[in-house]
Amino acid sequence: MSHEWITVLGATGSIGVSTLDVLARHVDRYSVFALTGHSRMAVLEAQCQQHRPVFAVVADAAQAAELQPRLAAAGVPTRVLHGSEALADVAADQRVQVVMAAIVGAAGLAPTLAAVRAGKRVLLANKEALVMSGALFMQAVSQSGAQLLPIDSEHNAIFQCMPQNYGAGLGKVGVRRILLTASGGPFRDYALEDLAGVTPAQACAHPNWSMGQKISVDSASMMNKGLELIEACWLFDARPEQVEVVVHPQSVVHSLVDYVDGSVLAQLGNPDMRTPIAHALAWPERIDSGVSALDLLRTARLDFQAPDPLRFPCLSLARQAFDAGGTACAILNAANEVAVQAFLGGRIGFTDIPVIIEHTLNCLPPERVEELPQVMLADQQAREQAETWLVKRV
Ligand code: NDP
Ligand code: MG
Repeated sequence: MSHEWITVLGATGSIGVSTLDVLARHVDRYSVFALTGHSRMAVLEAQCQQHRPVFAVVADAAQAAELQPRLAAAGVPTRVLHGSEALADVAADQRVQVVMAAIVGAAGLAPTLAAVRAGKRVLLANKEALVMSGALFMQAVSQSGAQLLPIDSEHNAIFQCMPQNYGAGLGKVGVRRILLTASGGPFRDYALEDLAGVTPAQACAHPNWSMGQKISVDSASMMNKGLELIEACWLFDARPEQVEVVVHPQSVVHSLVDYVDGSVLAQLGNPDMRTPIAHALAWPERIDSGVSALDLLRTARLDFQAPDPLRFPCLSLARQAFDAGGTACAILNAANEVAVQAFLGGRIGFTDIPVIIEHTLNCLPPERVEELPQVMLADQQAREQAETWLVKRV
């Protein structure tokens, strides 16, 4: 068994905490090289005390000046760095073999790409990074020889159900369709007229998963499934019409792969992110994740429904953006990030989210993408456009 050094980008978040939980079960196998946090400094401090990484990375110099002496006083040897360059440095450091990419949103793109370009085994939770920069991201993976393993539970399930040689093309390996399951979120059964009045607290109370606020709102609007559709197309080189979204309220079947001979392979498990995290960490081996065995008799039922495009228009917006190509997915993602923040901050209603995204997509025609600065420019312009909508409207 090899010993590996890991950097956890976004250690203080929901995925980061689950990752450290799995790592703590396998200290003989993994050592923590770096942990990064952005605002939850007390969480980062406690994580440094437990895992004693070589580096911790925080957002700014003031945070670093506060955290460093506290760690030193506690006898923790960790060196505290700050800023976006430090994030990329700890992701690309030659001593590191594995990078967990678990920063939320566009902020994770640069360090995740740095890990990819340095040829690391990259465990990808930060779907927004791939959605924004799709072709460039996948090109960087193939050029550097990085190994990209999906953490998103659906994509991890698909990966587990795919043949090893799926990179040859889905048609060549006999895959007919990918069936991407969606819980439907907390508003799955809400009437359209009731969606306008839902609160951020309701949106963040997911029935099956405990997650960060942004992905919880995405899950409630089904933009999460839209982002995941795009993610699946890039990860598995699928056309969007080969990916079918199926609402599955129990979140036990994490996704399925449909083969031309009529076989359908599925991955099942309790809804706990430590399963895909442990899978990707140890792949192709298997390690204990701390997740209990699935009790099928207690689950009893597995239901499946078609998604409702009228109540959840974000899914169609994502399909449209992927079809439009170029910078459209970066625009979609940025407008969504602005809209979700505005909703969480009480500036807009829940049903304004797709309105802002559609408006932003309509205002900014997609441009061809050849280099990363074009993606970053589209991201910035989309944020400004979405903000303009907010200022005019509110
Ligand atoms: P959280 O909000 O819980 O955590 C986000 C992490 O990113 C935190 O460590 C946070 O630091 C850090 N962060 C936030 N903003 C910045 C920034 N500007 N610069 C650097 N770091 C930043 O999110 P989740 O853990 O839920 O999600 C992380 C990613 O994983 C997302 O892309 C999400 O879509 C994906 N994912 C999550 C799943 C889940 O179950 N949670 C499932 C599938 C995918 P701090 O907290 O200190 O501010
Ligand atoms: Mg998911």
